[in-house]
Amino acid sequence: MSPGNLNGEILEIRSLSAAYENVLALNNVTLSLRRGEILGLIGPNGSGKTTLIRVLSGILKPKEGKVLINNLDITSYSPPQRARVLAVVPQARHLGGAFSVEQTVLLGRTAYLGFLGRPSKKDLEKTAWAMEQTSVDHLAKRKLAEISGGEQQRVLLARALAQDTPVLLLDEPTNHLDLRYQVSLLSLLKSLVKQQNLTVLMALHDLNQVAGNADRVALLVEGRLHSVGFPEEVLIPEFIQEAYQTQVEIILHPRTGVQYILPRT
Ligand code: ADP
Ligand code: MG
Repeated sequence: MSPGNLNGEILEIRSLSAAYENVLALNNVTLSLRRGEILGLIGPNGSGKTTLIRVLSGILKPKEGKVLINNLDITSYSPPQRARVLAVVPQARHLGGAFSVEQTVLLGRTAYLGFLGRPSKKDLEKTAWAMEQTSVDHLAKRKLAEISGGEQQRVLLARALAQDTPVLLLDEPTNHLDLRYQVSLLSLLKSLVKQQNLTVLMALHDLNQVAGNADRVALLVEGRLHSVGFPEEVLIPEFIQEAYQTQVEIILHPRTGVQYILPRT
């Protein structure tokens, strides 16, 4: 596929393994992301979701295998080149530091800043747009350390959106959000995918959020890719039970037909 191909693969993970000292956290994973899709990444705690996102974002070096973006090995990208194709919303933790919300979101523009690092009009516009999309514009001058976990989560999303990349990786982005912001984050992602042909890889715990929002689903179990496919192919009781050691049943939403996964009681 040429990089110009609108529906081709933008990111390819080939036979990827990754380890922390003695722990093999990813074991021979092969998976592709297609342009303009949302791929839901699921799996039990410790199955390797965060590790995969860390390898893709260049924080962690693979033990074996490789990752290609637009047919080029990610190791051949310079950090600013990589920052222009791929943005990451990390798993939330408590963020300290003296930066304001606005300064943090502006950091998403680092790879574009010109000589002397002064932000251009476009950098400021993208920053304002990203804060507005994630409803943190009213917090612009507040210190990051002095806002709530859910607000911090939205600031991290704003920073990634300001980065203006074709690929977005999100690690459990809805964890600290209340219902309203969970819904608005997922619908924002869906509309960006549609409008900008954005490609999204999103690790989520809530299988029902995956069923309702992902175009395809990848299931990791103990560092291996257990299965990948359309939600109705992967979110089946047999696979969920195998992966999560929990009995579940599936019901279909009466209006939308989307499947709902319920623990069997
Ligand atoms: P998930 O995000 O699916 O919960 P992780 O990718 O965080 O899983 O973890 C995969 C495996 O790697 C787990 O066994 C976990 O204990 C281990 N692991 C994760 N981070 C580290 C680390 N910094 N040092 C050592 N082991 C780690
Ligand atoms: Mg994780």
